[in-house]
Amino acid sequence: MSPINHSLQQTRLQETLTNAFERLARIKNQTELEALRAEFIGRQGVLARLMDELKTLSLEEKRVQGPALNELKKTLTEAFTAKEVELLQQLLEQKAARASSFDVTAYRPGSLQGSLHPASHIIEEVENILISMGYEIIDGPEIEREEINFEALNIPKNHPARDLQDTFWLTIPHLLPRTHTSSVQIRGMQQRQPPLALATTGRCYRQEATDASHDFVFMQCEILLVDKKISLANLFATAKLFLQGLFKQEKLELRIRPSYFPFVEPGLEMDMSCPFCSTGCSVCKKSRWIEIGGAGLIHPHVLKASGINPEEYSGFAFGFGLTRLIMLKYGIDDIRHLHSSKVDFLKQF
Ligand SMILES: [Zn+2]
Repeated sequence: MSPINHSLQQTRLQETLTNAFERLARIKNQTELEALRAEFIGRQGVLARLMDELKTLSLEEKRVQGPALNELKKTLTEAFTAKEVELLQQLLEQKAARASSFDVTAYRPGSLQGSLHPASHIIEEVENILISMGYEIIDGPEIEREEINFEALNIPKNHPARDLQDTFWLTIPHLLPRTHTSSVQIRGMQQRQPPLALATTGRCYRQEATDASHDFVFMQCEILLVDKKISLANLFATAKLFLQGLFKQEKLELRIRPSYFPFVEPGLEMDMSCPFCSTGCSVCKKSRWIEIGGAGLIHPHVLKASGINPEEYSGFAFGFGLTRLIMLKYGIDDIRHLHSSKVDFLKQF
């Protein structure tokens, strides 16, 4: 610092310096520092104004004031740089302190907890009811051999039913994503000897245009019973008991309509009385009946293809759309929500 001249200008320079140092000492962060830097040594700052005033002074005054002003600028610039380094150092120390006190056991409030998908809820419920009725739950591959998905189920090549089930075909010959869970029944029958009480749940794939009620991937459930003298009466009793258990409705009734599926004879479609109303609602479209699935007595060709003698044994098969059941039970209006992975949707279950 140059020796202080007692002229008025020198006093102003000294005041500027004192003021800058006092305020610099109170700076807490980089933003404040930059604002103060602009105020003092910025283009329109205090120093710039003093430089402008210099022009109005006499030559003699300039000779004294010029170097003093330069000295002041140098001192201030150095002080600001030193403060910047100090702030940076503080920041690093704070970070280091936080890292060393990181507690891995600390409870993090408000964290998202996962829950079961509605499909998992229904599968668990369906399987529990069937197990309580003496059924064995079996599983099978989603990529299936053509002969099991079709031939063994009495759907030979060129059979029109293959057109009904718009199949995805893989580039590997004779393999396809299964079009129904009936393929698992074939595997179950081939690997066991009757009497058999089998049930399976799982995904199936069909080449469908997607909308709110159709999807190319959906879930089915199939129930199969093979023993001596199995009749439609066994089918109705089983289906009714099962649906009553699932919808917790003792008064739930069944209605049947004749239908055609290549793997059963006779084949029929089943409706249940609407479990949500007694006088008609939007779910049953005011009809009080809801379509539930297809069923029938297992075709002798299918029993034979699975190594079971149709002269000695008979059986029933009952299949229904599990996806549809999930939508009914939870009031879901768009099938696509089920594999949308939307957290808002999934959080509800
Ligand atoms: Zn209804």
